[in-house]
Parts: sequence; C-alpha cells; structure tokens
Amino acid sequence: MIFNKKQQDIAKNIDNNADISKWKNWKWQLKHSITDIDRFEKISGIKFSADRKEELQETLDKFPLSITPYYMSLINTDNYEYDPVFHQSFPSPSELITNKYDMKDPLAEDKDSPAPHLTHRYPDRVLFHVSNVCSMYCRHCTRKRKVGDNSHTCGMEELEPGIKYISEHPEIRDVLLSGGDPFMLSDEYLDSILEKISAIEHVEIIRIGSRMPVVLPYRITDGLINVLKKYKPVYVNTHFNHPREMSKSAQEAVAKLVDAGIVMGNQTVLLAGVNDCPRIIKSLCHKLLKNRVRPYYLYQCDLSEGLTHFRTPVGKGIEIMESLIGHTSGLAVPTYVIDAPGGGGKIPVMPQYLISWSTNKVILRNYEGVITTYKEPDSYEPTFCNRKCDECDLQLNLEEASETANIGIQMLLSDEDKTISLTPADNARYDRRDE
Ligand SMILES: *Cc1c(COP(=O)(O)O)cnc(C)c1O
Repeated sequence: MIFNKKQQDIAKNIDNNADISKWKNWKWQLKHSITDIDRFEKISGIKFSADRKEELQETLDKFPLSITPYYMSLINTDNYEYDPVFHQSFPSPSELITNKYDMKDPLAEDKDSPAPHLTHRYPDRVLFHVSNVCSMYCRHCTRKRKVGDNSHTCGMEELEPGIKYISEHPEIRDVLLSGGDPFMLSDEYLDSILEKISAIEHVEIIRIGSRMPVVLPYRITDGLINVLKKYKPVYVNTHFNHPREMSKSAQEAVAKLVDAGIVMGNQTVLLAGVNDCPRIIKSLCHKLLKNRVRPYYLYQCDLSEGLTHFRTPVGKGIEIMESLIGHTSGLAVPTYVIDAPGGGGKIPVMPQYLISWSTNKVILRNYEGVITTYKEPDSYEPTFCNRKCDECDLQLNLEEASETANIGIQMLLSDEDKTISLTPADNARYDRRDE
C-alpha cells in the first residue's frame, strides 16, 4: 500500500494531476513541502483557531516549518493532538519557552571546529557538516539555531578546508557526514565528496547520518545506492523515533540500503509526548531489527533552545533501559547517552548492575532482581604495559597498534603513566599551593 487513501488525498490537494509516480519522486516531494500554516491546514484538513494560528505564526517566525507530503501522510489527523508524527514535524508555541539552562549551541560544535563545517571532538573521528539543509525540520532538532538558514548550499570550495584537515590528520579513521541531511545533496555532489574522503588513505570508514529513510524514503533511489556502494565501507545511521514511522515505504528504503551492503544503525531521541514509554521504545527497537537496522543510540534530549517541552527527566531514560536490558535481545538495546553540554561528548548512562565488591568477589544483580556473586580469579598475572608492544608477550601486530595517547580515566588506570589525579583547570586549592 504505497499510495493509500491519505496519500492520494494529500497529493490531490497539492496538485490535481498528481499520481503515484510524482508522489514517489523525491524532488516532487521537496518541491511541495509544506512550509506555512495556511497550506498545512488546506492540505491536512486540520483547522486551528485564530488565536492558535497567531501563536503558531510567532513560533514559525523564530523556528521555521517544513514537512514533506510523505511525512504528513503519516499523521493521524483524527487524533493529531497526540500524534507522534505531528509533534515531531508541526510547531508548538511551547518552542518559544526558554529557560536559563538552554543554549544556542549546547554541544559546542562551533567551538570545537578546526575548519569550516567540521567538528573534531574525539581523538579518531570527525563530524563533517556537508549539508545545511533538511527535507523536514524536526521540531526537536539539536541544531535548531541553524534550521532554515539555507541561504546557500555549501559548494565544494567551502568543504575543501575540512577535507584538507582530514587528510593532514592521520589519526582520523572515521568521518561522519552529517548536516543538515547529506542525502539532500545531489547524487553527483555526494559522489564527489565521498570520492575525496574515501581517497584519504587513513580514513577507514565513512558514516552518514540521514533522516531520509524516515521523512522522505523515496530519496533512497537506485542512483544514490550506486554512489554509496562505490567507496570505502559506508555506514548509514538514521533517525526513527516511533514505531509508526516504520511505514511500508520506509521499510523499502531501508531494505534497499541494507541489500546494497550498507550497515544501518538508528539514533532515537527520547521525547516527551512522543516516545517516552518503555513499550514504545521496545516496539520500535524490535521493528528496527526486523528491518535489519541496529538500534545504536537513545539520546537524552539536548539543552538546545526551544526544546523545553520535549525534555524528560534522565530517570525516564534509565527506566526505559531497565525495561530493555535482559528483557529482550541484546541487539535490540541501544546505548542511552547524554551529550554533555559544553562539548564533552556522549556519556553513556545505565541502571546500576554492580552493587558491591570485595577483594575477591563482585556482587551483581540481573534484570530480574536476582543478586549474584562472581568470584574473581585467585591468581591473575597482569601483563605490565609500557606501550612497548614489540617487547610484550601479547601478540599485537605493531601496525595495528593505536598510537593515540592515554587520556582521561584510561590514563589514570594505565601502568606507564604516573598521573594520580585529574583536576579542574581553575581549582582554588591548587592555586593556593602555587602561591
Ligand atoms: C556523536 C559524535 C561523533 C560520533 O560519536 P560515536 O560515539 O563514535 O558515534 C563524532 N563527533 C561528534 C562531534 C559527535 O557529536
């Protein structure tokens, strides 16, 4: 049922001559994306009061609207006020509420940027914003500050400094293309970006973050697949938030990608009123696996401006993880993360399973509440590590040895480093010692 009654109605409201071939043409979909309230009303059949429209317009003036006809067809218009698709795509006046912890750029992506459009946060991988446009504006976008700022698309000359940076940093083995949505670029342009990145010897894998399989599945064309198949291993992470989004069209798009040998993952954002329920997340994760998409991350909603009404307490995320771990296939369990405000990166958060410890026993509890004892080995001879792998008994081919230095807690744990504590840069107690 690719072209159901709802889709037909929407298509007819947009263009009397619309047929299935237009509906499934991604450029037709983009051309007819809904970007204002009057058109939304006309095409969806939903009507708002005059007061409501005024509030909505005020919201749109700050955070613009764009919905693909396809994604709109997933809205249950009879009960739209509780509809997960509606909430993710249609503005709420609550977006105008800000509180003092909200930030324009909570992840400090602009600060950790050594070249235009590039964020280098972690030792061995970078985030490369190759597109600044999306087919649909997610209301919960963490980069809300930039949405709609598509006065131009960045050409290759604008990406060159980022590509140069990657090629000059041999530690970068993983390049994550994001945006915006990289699949908004033409096949030819994406092809030339992938070709350049893939040609850099030390780049081992390329990841693409795209919501197209969810909001505009017809973008996954044979032409696009042929481009993605040409280069170094490509992983695609997409963004399903609710089982309802796994439509027939979405399933077909995902199947095309997976059949082409692309490994797919999914990142879900925990959103109040959309998916803040253990049963919804479990059902979503099962549907993802049935479609060969591996749940990767479950994100705590960021502190970006305009997202107040979407945020849940962290406890909701932990409760959801508690309901998944052990209860269902490990493959169906994403990692729940909080992306640290200020740019600290993703921090995994879990229920506690290690409940106590002595010198030779570890006490754990399982998902059923059973408390168990793990007896540690009586004798264990650790291999002393001075990072001189050629003198070590363990067999690591030196060419495969990571050259990155120990940092953080890993450094405190290491044999060779003498550091005994990590201290904040401005610590009054330490400053007094220096005086
Ligand atoms: C999320 C993210 C990555 C990738 O992180 P993984 O945990 O490897 O998926 C890389 N860079 C930035 C800036 C990110 O936000």
